[in-house]
Amino acid sequence: MKFATLITCMDGRIQRPLNDYVREYFDAPNIDTLAWPGACGPISRLQNPRVIEYVDRGLDISFNLHASCGMAIAGHHDCAGNPVNKAQQCTEVELIVQRFRESYGEDKVIGLWVNDQWTVERIC
Ligand SMILES: [Zn+2]
Repeated sequence: MKFATLITCMDGRIQRPLNDYVREYFDAPNIDTLAWPGACGPISRLQNPRVIEYVDRGLDISFNLHASCGMAIAGHHDCAGNPVNKAQQCTEVELIVQRFRESYGEDKVIGLWVNDQWTVERIC
């Protein structure tokens, strides 16, 4: 059973398009999803110990028990949990991607954006 990992917001409008994109990109049928309200904001700031613990625990299971082959970090249009503009969210996604690339490898981590058509775009 091949796995990949997705870190994103809990917003119901983005789950299906992101799951489809990440499954296809990593050629993995099972996507472990770490969903936190407005994920990119709090995860990029590293200030909330609960979100740090949640992400660390999820990544430990996904990579060490499921042998995940890679991960995507995604922001999205009209995010109620992280109500900042697209440019700010993309900066947050890039920051998280850079941080995880140092631990997981350059080609294992990608950054995504779900636009106002609920279509997934690659950021980095
Ligand atoms: Zn959101």
